[in-house]
Amino acid sequence: MTRETVLKVDNINVFYGELQALWDVSIDVHKGHIVSVIGANGAGKSTLLNSIAGVMTPRTGTMEHMGVSINRMRPDETVAQKIALVPEGRRIFTRMSVYDNLIMGSYPKEARQFRKRNLERVYHLFPKLAERRNQRADTFSGGEQQMLAIGRALMSGPELMLCDEISLGLAPTIIKQIYKRLEEVNDEGMSIVLVEQDIHQSLKEADYVYVMLKGRIVLEGKPSDLNVDQVKAAYFGV
Ligand code: ATP
Repeated sequence: MTRETVLKVDNINVFYGELQALWDVSIDVHKGHIVSVIGANGAGKSTLLNSIAGVMTPRTGTMEHMGVSINRMRPDETVAQKIALVPEGRRIFTRMSVYDNLIMGSYPKEARQFRKRNLERVYHLFPKLAERRNQRADTFSGGEQQMLAIGRALMSGPELMLCDEISLGLAPTIIKQIYKRLEEVNDEGMSIVLVEQDIHQSLKEADYVYVMLKGRIVLEGKPSDLNVDQVKAAYFGV
């Protein structure tokens, strides 16, 4: 039996002014899957996630989440459609407490009624956030701030989480811890799109992989059907 497709991005073309950043990009995400999008700096990975999250609007092409068109949605509308972005560089509110950062994540009307339950879930997942709930976020290490960014995204009660280079600049042990938590969330049924530069990490985590080069998808497949050399060749465009 094939799994239900929850996200369908079909042939999107995305521009920054006159500069085209994505060329006919299509991806499918099945329910409960982890999909990795890998590529070098500037390949278009963040542009893809930002387009899905409504931060950018494709000029052409279509996008659907759980059967609803998200083509022209603003970020607050995609959050209400149960899509959460963990942005590159975390973008947490550094002068605010951990608790206040998390509460900011639960602003959609639909999420407010589940605030208490979602908060407990985040604290259970990341006990450090619970221990230090009243501390300002700028007293946190990079890894802890990343956990907070993920926790904030979870507070909106998403069905699909878009994670933009969450391992960037973190120590391997911290990366391992964070990925373990993501696996737990995934085991509960959350679909996840992971953008990473790290080929090995991506192949390890994913049910399905897309490789991007200069704004295009140049290779895709299940990790078991791809070999590392093939992926590296596509990644570097050789
Ligand atoms: P990185 O790992 O560096 O974030 P990426 O794969 O996420 O890389 P994008 O950030 O999506 O790549 O960039 C795709 C292309 O769009 C690049 O050529 C980049 O220079 C360009 N680009 C990104 N942001 C802007 C912007 N604000 N204005 C103009 N061009 C941009």
